[in-house]
Amino acid sequence: MTDCLFCKIIKGDIPGNIVYRDEQATAFRDINPAAPTHILIVPNKHIDSVNMLILDDEPLIGHLITTAKVIAAQEGIAESGYRLIINTNAGAGQTVFHIHLHLLGGRQMKALG
Ligand code: 5GP
Ligand code: ZN
Repeated sequence: MTDCLFCKIIKGDIPGNIVYRDEQATAFRDINPAAPTHILIVPNKHIDSVNMLILDDEPLIGHLITTAKVIAAQEGIAESGYRLIINTNAGAGQTVFHIHLHLLGGRQMKALG
């Protein structure tokens, strides 16, 4: 997707504070962090949202979570704890329509509600 912000960061067309990259996924620091550690883990393949996932994407989505685990350890928050979030569509607060997993940690999280 040529007009997608996260596709541009993955390709290197726009600078991103990239902390991890492999064949399937790229992770970079959120520009407006909601916690001391706030990293976005995105598939290199463009997918708009969870609503657009197909069965073939299951290994890829699993890989995003395994990648979150690796990055949480790198960031030193594996033991203290972290939260993984995927927002889907505007009502949930999705603003960038390239599916991404938020990795949040480094502070005490409040209960969801
Ligand atoms: P969403 O609201 O779609 O779940 O998450 C989008 C996230 O992308 C937000 O937390 C927002 O701060 C972040 N974001 C928006 N534009 C940029 C950008 O240009 N660079 C980076 N690194 N993060 C961005
Ligand atoms: Zn994209």
